[in-house]
Amino acid sequence: MRVDPTANLDVLVAGAGAAGIAAAVSAGRTGARVALLERGPFTGGKATAAMVGTICGIYLRGGSEARYAMNGFPRGFCEQLAARSGTRPVSGVNGLWFLPYHYEAFKALGLQLLQEAGVKVLLNTSIESCHAEGDRIISFTARSDEGVMGISASTAVDCTGTGHLAQLAGAPMIRARRYQQPAQVFCMRGLRADDEAALSMAVTRAVLRADRTDHGPVSVVPGSLRDGQACLKIAFHEQVEGTTDFGALQARGQRMASELAELLRANVDAFRDAEVSLIAPEVGVRTQQRAQGRYTLEEQDVMTCAKFTDGVANGAWPIEFWGAERHVEMRYFDEGGYYRIPVGALRAATLNNLFLAGRNISATEQAMASARVIGTCLGTGYAAGVLAATTALGGDMDAAIESVRRAQVYI
Ligand SMILES: Cc1cc2nc3c(=O)[nH]c(=O)nc-3n(C[C@H](O)[C@H](O)[C@H](O)COP(=O)(O)OP(=O)(O)OC[C@H]3O[C@@H](n4cnc5c(N)ncnc54)[C@H](O)[C@@H]3O)c2cc1C
Repeated sequence: MRVDPTANLDVLVAGAGAAGIAAAVSAGRTGARVALLERGPFTGGKATAAMVGTICGIYLRGGSEARYAMNGFPRGFCEQLAARSGTRPVSGVNGLWFLPYHYEAFKALGLQLLQEAGVKVLLNTSIESCHAEGDRIISFTARSDEGVMGISASTAVDCTGTGHLAQLAGAPMIRARRYQQPAQVFCMRGLRADDEAALSMAVTRAVLRADRTDHGPVSVVPGSLRDGQACLKIAFHEQVEGTTDFGALQARGQRMASELAELLRANVDAFRDAEVSLIAPEVGVRTQQRAQGRYTLEEQDVMTCAKFTDGVANGAWPIEFWGAERHVEMRYFDEGGYYRIPVGALRAATLNNLFLAGRNISATEQAMASARVIGTCLGTGYAAGVLAATTALGGDMDAAIESVRRAQVYI
């Protein structure tokens, strides 16, 4: 086994989704030696591979214009992303605000910020094992096309979305019998349409009339209609389970997208001359197992907008639960409201040098149905990166928590 040049890191970040980018950048900005490992060929995680298309949770609900739910890194990231994508915040149903973005802009912005922060980025590289002794992870191995490499790092941030690193370290996990419904996104170009709401209704009508039983509702990704191209999201019927065959799910997602494109071409005028331009390379899996933290964020914390005194990131999106039924269940707290996520949800229960971020923070399935959105993932990622770097460099943890709070949670 070779020893990688990233040996003797201060912080190892696993997973380069929204949370991993934020964690690695914030850790890098402290001056720590940081590497970010991503098993896929590009950065962004679900935001790019599943082509989610809109950033939720970065604005407060209500009001006549978008008001940020967090400052600092999450706000700066979204402002730069909007500028690169040529998009603006959009107001949707029930006063919800979100930001449409371009997938390539997301990837490019992430890479630029990582480079500026001095982070070593290793793509196509998976964390494969780690070895814990007592309350610390001592060493890691990762695999790439070039083989297996050994890595040593003082601290780690698990941003894999599935608690993969925590699981490899033998840490306790949060598991459910069933997780939320996944979805497949794909895009079509050559549309004759300029009204997204009308297009969305025409799609819904065509799908209902066809009475297809192999998938759930289909919707236009909000804010995606532009220059004759739009993205569509197909809900799967079934929820994800521990036994789900993701390879088969992936193949079905690609097939459903092609079949639906045919159906729309044959039945909806706006699609008559349209063609598929892109099928998301990954099925959008919303939640899976995650690591158990020192505190587990609960539904009640979200719904009562709890403000923990050590809260390091704000959550502002309602509980959006995609269950087994054919519709999504939304549960709102007051307009303008938000909750604060405490440090304990970002610290592994039993390992002192493992931090958690993104859809891998410690939260119940209901609380995660709010905290998993990209805006919140950027906030928990930023916080976890600072805390991991502070631990690695032997800094003052209370001061680090206060600096994160000053940077992003006070609004
Ligand atoms: C269908 C769908 C629609 C959604 N719609 C929205 C929306 O409109 N707006 C919104 O804000 N949010 C939405 N979300 C939620 C949001 O996209 C995700 O929750 C969020 O992007 C998760 O970010 P993350 O960084 O925590 O994890 P992920 O994006 O899952 O990133 C984890 C990364 O870790 C990598 N990884 C995993 N294991 C390893 C390993 N062993 N070694 C190295 N790398 C590893 C993965 O390849 C991945 O890149 C949606 C999600 C889905 C599925």
